[in-house]
Amino acid sequence: MKSDARPNRIRSVVIVGGGTAGWMAASALVKVLGAQYADITLIESDEIGIVGVGEATIPQIRLFNDLLGLNEDAFIKATKGTYKLGIQFVDWGRLGDRYIHPFGRYGIDMEGVSFHAFYLKGLQLGETTPLSAYSLEASAAAAGRFMRSINAGKSPLSNIHHAYHFDAGLYSGFLRTFATGRGVVRREGKIVDVALRADDGFVESVTLEDGSSIAADLFIDCSGFRGLLIEGALQTGYEDWSNWLPCNRALAVPCESAGPPTPFTRSTARSAGWQWRIPLQHRIGNGYVYCSDHITDAAAADTLLANLDGKPLADPRPLRFVTGRRRKFWNRNVVALGLASGFMEPLESTSIHLVQSGIAKLLAMFPDRSFDPVEIDRYNRVVGEEYVRIRDFIVLHYNATSRDDSDFWNRVRTMEIPDGLREKYEIFRNRGRIFRENDELFSDTSWFSVMTGQNLWPRSYDPVADVLDDEETLKRLQNVREVIGTCLGQMPTHEAFLDNPLRAA
Ligand code: FAD
Repeated sequence: MKSDARPNRIRSVVIVGGGTAGWMAASALVKVLGAQYADITLIESDEIGIVGVGEATIPQIRLFNDLLGLNEDAFIKATKGTYKLGIQFVDWGRLGDRYIHPFGRYGIDMEGVSFHAFYLKGLQLGETTPLSAYSLEASAAAAGRFMRSINAGKSPLSNIHHAYHFDAGLYSGFLRTFATGRGVVRREGKIVDVALRADDGFVESVTLEDGSSIAADLFIDCSGFRGLLIEGALQTGYEDWSNWLPCNRALAVPCESAGPPTPFTRSTARSAGWQWRIPLQHRIGNGYVYCSDHITDAAAADTLLANLDGKPLADPRPLRFVTGRRRKFWNRNVVALGLASGFMEPLESTSIHLVQSGIAKLLAMFPDRSFDPVEIDRYNRVVGEEYVRIRDFIVLHYNATSRDDSDFWNRVRTMEIPDGLREKYEIFRNRGRIFRENDELFSDTSWFSVMTGQNLWPRSYDPVADVLDDEETLKRLQNVREVIGTCLGQMPTHEAFLDNPLRAA
């Protein structure tokens, strides 16, 4: 134990689990607090293993890597990663539809009015260019091009939003080296018992199979779906969201690459769910997320294997889940992160982000040994709100469809939707307005992209867009397209950038 003048300071932290969540938490804590602040121990069991399928991310992960001080090129090399500019959705609104939900924004807001208002006005004036032509990220993704932002003044090339695809096992290993190199102690072993303090029910210690007991002031539960501490020991409870997100199984399979890696994740809607395609340097990660009410495991496996770019490199790996969240993410002296805290399918690649966001909020409200309930309540409220907003955005993808070719699509198209989503629809329906609630993860650009990509169109445009007359509106839209076209011409292919980021840029 470390000595310190303040008797109440947290002096020991035990992280249970060494998947992506556990090693992200260990890395961030040791980086921010330093090894002198508290003893940090991570317990993982090789016998149990990790889920290891989180391979697609969103741009916020770059903040996490920056916090750790990681070099991007070294990170991409170590994780056999590729770059990502958005997600392509195939067959979602209707069979045959295809759109990209890009990172970043469309065009540029003008005269204080959002770009999408002018885009809608342009449509009304007869303009027919697709929305993707107004996003450098969407245009580059479709063209297989990529580069990082450069210093180019007001050019969109100065503000390219990107994320990564990476091998989840290699990412955990990379972070493990980072954390243990800075003083985190790794213990290998299976936890077989959890002891609670008699007076207040806080977790006192965990016992490993070899009989050793490890005590701590603060426990971070990263034990995966089982939620060893948050549920197993503290019985916190789970809020089931499968009435809105009924998919409850996945099959994951890697396959050989075919052609250069695309700088986007692909999500293709299938008869009872959707299939992901995540290109890495050495293989493609694939999976079918489906609802067991509407397809058998065998039929799902057939669908998945029939829709791979290359030869499968393993047998499909089954995963089961129930979409939802813990009733509390922080209960007494246990904070749950990752799959232990809840699960939403990876349709918008949000799980790793939620781990990162949970860590950031924990650090912002880092406790002492008094564990102030006010701070714990705030943490639970804020994390809960983030979950709900992301859930509503994912539900949008299923519900905004005219597909009626299977029982699954009939079910999600006609289901009762959450109130927050209903309000978004109602406001959008009139004049295409979208409001970002509080610190909601997905911006108005994201909502606009998915809503229109899935054929939800408002009756009219925002009247404030009339601050520009018709001629000027069309001229400015054309100007945005030309700027993006010029920028696109300066970008190397994704493959060339991966080969040599310095030369390619
Ligand atoms: P796990 O990886 O399950 O790790 C749990 C750890 O706890 C392991 O180390 C295990 O050994 C340890 N443990 C458990 N019990 C014990 C015990 N008794 N004793 C000792 N140790 C124990 N996220 C994204 O951001 N993007 C994606 O594209 C994406 N795709 C996904 C696809 C699917 C089908 C699924 C299911 C998830 C996906 N995710 C994705 C989520 C992502 O995989 C997880 O958020 C991430 O892997 C974190 O997992 P974890 O660390 O919480 O749990």
